[in-house]
Amino acid sequence: MRNTLATELIFELSQSGRRAACYPDCDVPQQPIDDLIPAAYRFQDDGPGLPELTEPDVIRHFLNLSTLNMSVDTHFYPLGSCTMKYNPKRHERLAGLPGLVDLHPYQRTCDQQGMLRLLHDMQDMLGEIAGLPAVSLQPAAGAQGELAALLVASAWFRSRNETRTRVIFPCSAHGTNPASAAIAGFQCVQLNNSPGGLVDLDELTAQLDNSTAVFMITNPNTLGLFETQIEEIAKRVHDAGGLVYIDGANMNAIMGVTRPGDFGGDMMHFNVHKTFTGPHGGGGPGAGPIAVREDLAKFLPGPIVSRTTDDNGYTRFELETPANSIGRVRSHFGNVGILLRGYCYLRTLGPDGIRQAARHAVLNANYLKSLLADILPVPNGEYCMHEFVASAANLKDNRDISALDIAKRLLDFGFHAPTIYFPLVVPEAMMIEPTETESKLTLDAFAEALHKIADEDPEFLHQAPYETPVSRPDDVKAARQPILSWSTDDGRDSL
Ligand SMILES: *Cc1c(COP(=O)(O)O)cnc(C)c1O
Repeated sequence: MRNTLATELIFELSQSGRRAACYPDCDVPQQPIDDLIPAAYRFQDDGPGLPELTEPDVIRHFLNLSTLNMSVDTHFYPLGSCTMKYNPKRHERLAGLPGLVDLHPYQRTCDQQGMLRLLHDMQDMLGEIAGLPAVSLQPAAGAQGELAALLVASAWFRSRNETRTRVIFPCSAHGTNPASAAIAGFQCVQLNNSPGGLVDLDELTAQLDNSTAVFMITNPNTLGLFETQIEEIAKRVHDAGGLVYIDGANMNAIMGVTRPGDFGGDMMHFNVHKTFTGPHGGGGPGAGPIAVREDLAKFLPGPIVSRTTDDNGYTRFELETPANSIGRVRSHFGNVGILLRGYCYLRTLGPDGIRQAARHAVLNANYLKSLLADILPVPNGEYCMHEFVASAANLKDNRDISALDIAKRLLDFGFHAPTIYFPLVVPEAMMIEPTETESKLTLDAFAEALHKIADEDPEFLHQAPYETPVSRPDDVKAARQPILSWSTDDGRDSL
């Protein structure tokens, strides 16, 4: 059954004269608007053109509209690379405590000691998980963390009078890696993967020289595979005088099990909104703290919270800006609300809990991978970490069913689609990340839906989905010619 709720625009629902509130008759002399605002300063004389509706009309419209959305709270959401794990509601309550949300960042530090302690402990916990001692909480997302850390690397090389211009990354890298490198002023060098989907050591070595600034690597990588040669990779990069950047978007697979600083990373970012349960999607907010090794610390963006003991022996938390800081990349401490949710998560689970969460994430992914092996094989790797990249190439070749068809049809079964066509190195890629917060029942139901879809008539699948208000919008047109205002000749039908 097609969902017909909220498919009309609020402007189409408008009925002249409808109101949400009725005001009593005016009991003071009325002033003509021309006396108050001269015509030259007014935009229009015929009102703002807003729809006219009753309060129930408005509430129903927006509430029904909200139910058309898929979210972690309403649907299984195996969107690979994004770690759409459940966001515990307890974190929302704690991060929303009045003592936290009512603080103003310009209050004196002596009046913010509680918040500063939380942020200080968050720095410590992230440093511990990273295996890297110095942490800046500032960046607002993973991509901004990458940029900030690359600027730190730049400043470090400058301080050593070294001119290093190139940032290297594997072809499976997330698009933000080359984007950040380019914005930070580096030249981008892309490596082909080995046939097994890992970094090709020979390719890497051939590119390393005294122009190499940073090698960026995601571990486990975007194919969901742990880069087992990571120590050798780091050694070669270090021997060439470069730095190793670990893209920490996949920390959900390894948190508490192994640490980037221990396997050769010099810098990394966390995606608090992915790994540590910040609610995300719809454009943010996020938090992308970075952790770096000791000799890079003095370049970090500040402020950083430091812990001292005053003359009376009391613990005090102060703000410090590192000596050679690259400057702020965000105001104050970035998106503190998300950092607080991450803090609650880490304190709730503790060291053993986060290790257990990582293990369950890996177990869930491998279980689902094995359920799908007959229809959606995984070209790279016998086992995966927290996610896997399956290929619909066989279904495409033999039955004319593409990854896109499957993703669209899954919506009718009440599942959010996996990431498709990324990474680019797998044909008809379906990148599936179930996360540890899903039950075996959910994973079984998802696999069953995929098996049903694989047996469906390809012609039928090409038109899917059938249950959503809009079936197959023109993706390019929706992005290039968005309809952002209403007029009767906008031609909505052409959507
Ligand atoms: C999500 C992601 C990023 C970017 O992080 P944002 O927080 O979305 O800016 C970088 N690398 C990988 C592998 C990712 O999955």
